[in-house]
Amino acid sequence: MLTAEGFGRLMENYAARLQDFKDTLNDLDNRIGDGDHGTNMTRGFTAVADKWRQGRPAELSAMCQDAGMTLLGAVGGASGPLYGTVFLKLSGAWRDALEIDLVALAGGLEAAYEGLVARGKAAPGDKTMLDVWRPALDRLQGLVVASESTSSSPGFAPALEQVSVAAQSAALATKEQVARKGRASYLGERSRGTCDPGGVSSALFFEEIVAAITGRRDRLTWNRSAL
Ligand code: ADP
Ligand code: MG
Repeated sequence: MLTAEGFGRLMENYAARLQDFKDTLNDLDNRIGDGDHGTNMTRGFTAVADKWRQGRPAELSAMCQDAGMTLLGAVGGASGPLYGTVFLKLSGAWRDALEIDLVALAGGLEAAYEGLVARGKAAPGDKTMLDVWRPALDRLQGLVVASESTSSSPGFAPALEQVSVAAQSAALATKEQVARKGRASYLGERSRGTCDPGGVSSALFFEEIVAAITGRRDRLTWNRSAL
């Protein structure tokens, strides 16, 4: 389902999507942080995509390891170590894998989620990227046990796309939350009324994962002025 080649395209597409959302993510972070989340994320994932255009590791696990190390070096801020951890955990979970099916995908992302919690010491409800990761992953885990888990079933792509929808809804729902972790927590109550920038970039990430598997080119519409 997801091969090394598909994973390379996923990372390239995510870098392009971040570039498109750079100003939006910076604007969100400007309102409740220091205004660099779009710049940080775009710099990191563009560094990975640029590097791989010159030649990338052959195998999925090595790709994830390389991406994790590149992100750790290039992103900075709170999100650098967090996204770096995501890919290092994926590398560990996908060792020797040639293809990632739904079970391996959910398992890898679950390990990545645990890495995020261990590193950031946040929990769902704190208005961080975890508030998008947890519900999106729950949706994905639901598919693993459901009959749609076979990619040949006609309901597979629409069911998988619900993971993107869940991630987007969760990112929008961070708007009403009060931040308890990260820079936005310094604002207390005043962090309400702005979506968490890391939540939005995470929802875009889940969208790209889903698109890499379904092969669909269209993406969800984001009403950016409502974030
Ligand atoms: P910085 O806050 O250092 O400027 P970024 O702006 O790149 O870093 O990233 C901010 C995002 O990082 C937040 O929107 C939030 O989603 C995420 N984040 C911050 N702290 C944590 C944490 N402890 N656990 C999980 N995510 C966090
Ligand atoms: Mg910031």
